[in-house]
Amino acid sequence: MALGEFELIRRYFAVPELAFAHADVVLGAGDDGAILSLPPGFQLVMSIDTLNESIHFPVNADPFLLAQRCLLVNLSDLAAMGAEPVAFTLAISLPSADASWLSDFSSGLARVAQAHYCPLIGGDTTRGPLSITIQVHGKVPAGNALLRSGASAGDAVYVTGELGDAAAALWWLLGDTRLDRSALDAQNIDALQQAFYQPDARITAGIALRGLASAALDMSDGLASDLQHILEASARPALGAVIEADALPLSGTFRRCIPLAEQVALALSGGDDYELCVTVPVAKEIAAIAALKGLGVRFTRIGYIDDGEGIRIQTSSGQQHPLSLKGYNHFSESRQV
Ligand code: ADP
Ligand code: MG
Repeated sequence: MALGEFELIRRYFAVPELAFAHADVVLGAGDDGAILSLPPGFQLVMSIDTLNESIHFPVNADPFLLAQRCLLVNLSDLAAMGAEPVAFTLAISLPSADASWLSDFSSGLARVAQAHYCPLIGGDTTRGPLSITIQVHGKVPAGNALLRSGASAGDAVYVTGELGDAAAALWWLLGDTRLDRSALDAQNIDALQQAFYQPDARITAGIALRGLASAALDMSDGLASDLQHILEASARPALGAVIEADALPLSGTFRRCIPLAEQVALALSGGDDYELCVTVPVAKEIAAIAALKGLGVRFTRIGYIDDGEGIRIQTSSGQQHPLSLKGYNHFSESRQV
């Protein structure tokens, strides 16, 4: 790289805005490895995600927004575990050392890193097609992590926030003709951009749900596909779920620009929302609702777990239909953005 690998790291990654001090970080970037020291009684939670250009984000994506998305989707995994962020590492492959791109990318990362008290503690920088891998490290009181495997028949199914906005945003970004562009004002367009590039990582919600949710995950592939993971992980011997179509939390922007006939399907199958989907035993529902209300996070009961077969959608007439929609799966479909 024209700039030189070490100079590039020094200017854009090992900067105080990103590589700031953290109580649990003994040694950050600069040595052969970083050192973490968690308080006694805590467990380390780790999660890693790669985002590739033209697969996970459009070519020429705004680097300031892209950086935020890359870190937020990783933090969302910590949220789904009920973990608190500690630090992250970054492996980045860059086609060239473009100073203005790097500066914006670094600022975007710093913004999210600071908001979540999650400094950059190391990484790897290489030349190649644009690809960004982030590994986040979090902590959780021993034994208190939220897992996918704890759901039981009778538990209620809840989601945070709203569903489908990120999928609507992709339709907007890609110029899908099913989306009614004329219905959107500047504020709606901002809301869509934000849903895709700056999804909320529901860290405080995940922490608040420790001891209340029986199972949890963050939705990256769409509710239909992600809830299936909870059913499979929790199955003893088999679990199903009923989702009430009318209960799905849809934003005003989503209702405006997505045709009515497509709304439920898109809210169920659209990925990238990064909201939490959790199951809550009936005896804990009131406490969970109060906890999320206290955080100002929308928390909606969308159905329940039972011992029926698969996921069924219940319409307002009370009829149930088996769900045939699938979320996005990297190996069964090719998605190009
Ligand atoms: P090594 O050769 O020992 O693997 P590197 O040359 O890859 O080390 O990296 C030198 C130092 O710079 C390391 O501390 C590494 O963590 C840090 N580093 C490299 N790339 C990045 C990056 N993208 N972000 C933050 N730190 C980085
Ligand atoms: Mg290295």
